[in-house]
Amino acid sequence: MKTIVWFRNDLRLHDHPALHEAATCGQVVPIYIVPETKTPTASDWWISESLEHLKEQLEKLGAPLVILQGEPALVLTEFAFRHGADSLFFNGQVDPISRREETSLLEAEGLSGIDIRRFEPNMLLDPSILKTGAGHPYKVFGAFWKSLQQQTIPWPLPVPTSLTSWIDSDATSILLEETDLRSSIKWDTSLQEAWTPGEFASFNQWVHFKDNGINSYVRRRDFPAIDGTSRLSGYLASGNMSIRALWHAVRRAQSEGEVPQPEPFLRQLAWREFAYYQLMHFPDITERPLRSEFLQFAWREDPEGLLAWKEGRTGFPLVDAGMRELWSTGTIHNRVRMVVASFLIKHLLIDWRIGAEWFRETLVDYDVANNTLGWQWVAGSGFDAAPYFRIFNPTAQSKKFDADGTYIRKWVPELATLPKPFIHEPHLAPEDVLTEAGVLIDKTYPSPIVDHSTARTRALDAYAFIKGKKEGSS
Ligand SMILES: Cc1cc2nc3c(=O)[nH]c(=O)nc-3n(C[C@H](O)[C@H](O)[C@H](O)COP(=O)(O)OP(=O)(O)OC[C@H]3O[C@@H](n4cnc5c(N)ncnc54)[C@H](O)[C@@H]3O)c2cc1C
Repeated sequence: MKTIVWFRNDLRLHDHPALHEAATCGQVVPIYIVPETKTPTASDWWISESLEHLKEQLEKLGAPLVILQGEPALVLTEFAFRHGADSLFFNGQVDPISRREETSLLEAEGLSGIDIRRFEPNMLLDPSILKTGAGHPYKVFGAFWKSLQQQTIPWPLPVPTSLTSWIDSDATSILLEETDLRSSIKWDTSLQEAWTPGEFASFNQWVHFKDNGINSYVRRRDFPAIDGTSRLSGYLASGNMSIRALWHAVRRAQSEGEVPQPEPFLRQLAWREFAYYQLMHFPDITERPLRSEFLQFAWREDPEGLLAWKEGRTGFPLVDAGMRELWSTGTIHNRVRMVVASFLIKHLLIDWRIGAEWFRETLVDYDVANNTLGWQWVAGSGFDAAPYFRIFNPTAQSKKFDADGTYIRKWVPELATLPKPFIHEPHLAPEDVLTEAGVLIDKTYPSPIVDHSTARTRALDAYAFIKGKKEGSS
């Protein structure tokens, strides 16, 4: 059989159900399709680096990667017709845009004679398995996690030992450099310094975390100046790493006595699973708050505040450090993600979807499911979210999680020599201390763009309004 394997956000060879099945059925042409007319994002940089790596690996196995550009159903129909394919296999994805692509492929007339098969997405379990006693999807994470722990996670599939292609890939493929993925990513040098994408790098990162981080994960994971988390999110989002492979690697390390208590880390992997599960069952959550009262929320238009937030000029050092880390490295530590998201939503009253869009453009680990869950969680509009009225105080968070200001000093260098008591609130430092540190408030570093207490009261008033409406309507 001649099978096209359509690669998507599954840029790896291990535990790749579509590739595995195609390899056992006969000849294989692996294809990646770059979307047309797309403004490149930081995660596109990650994808293009991963494609370079995947290309090398597929070539070694015997079936070089073909890169094409366009609308997937059209490109694949044309390719299958021209090269006489019998079948087309791909791994499913759960986000609405990818699901629409899958539907148009399954309905494409030109592919009617072809055996099209959709395999499982990069999840621990088929999302239709876990249901409440009443047969509904879970809305509460605790119950979901309990139920997940009772399941057996399937074993990851091996890498095919060899592949054979039936076409001359070089003559068919376009060059990666010619695609929209590569063009005009403004900050790719700093991303290059921060990350090594690709399947092999994902294994190295796991080993590094197993040997240096997982056993102190609970103690260290909340401190942004410390390398205390796995830093695997980019590998998981691009599919460089299979979630099942990671799950079983953790369990193996546990059984070999290397990781006596893996549950806290596995629980975070379950949050990812919950995000995918929710997106699968409630596809409009990328745009719509899960709690309907939030549809009435009176978001503010504040272009200046939004720009200050994006550029890390809010006058709240932890928020500014996070936003500058994001721009420079394409990531933010989870604790700081929560703080910057909360600041945008609750201190500036800017719609969470605007923040989610900025994260889509700038995160190397951008993942539509995790990002949506993260923003709805912080906004309080998700099913199992932080209550809206719990408003992070960015200064208190800074004092607690970056007590000596190491993280702030790294990302906001104009504050680097401020002594510890003032690093969290530079505008309150005495004049002589500021002079000594070379800080000029409102010249080299801004004073806070909002007053915390005033912003807090305004946010609570806005919430009381929608809450009142809900109570009034019930
Ligand atoms: C506003 C907001 C937006 C976010 N956007 C994204 C995103 O686009 N992509 C993304 O992968 N994560 C996102 N997260 C979740 C989390 O911040 C990152 O997964 C984590 O910081 C990645 O670092 P790590 O790999 O070192 O995490 P670790 O702590 O080592 O966790 C291991 C893995 O578990 C998963 N995970 C951990 N925490 C969460 C969580 N809260 N929700 C879902 N999965 C989780 C991730 O796949 C992560 O790689 C977001 C969180 C917030 C609050």
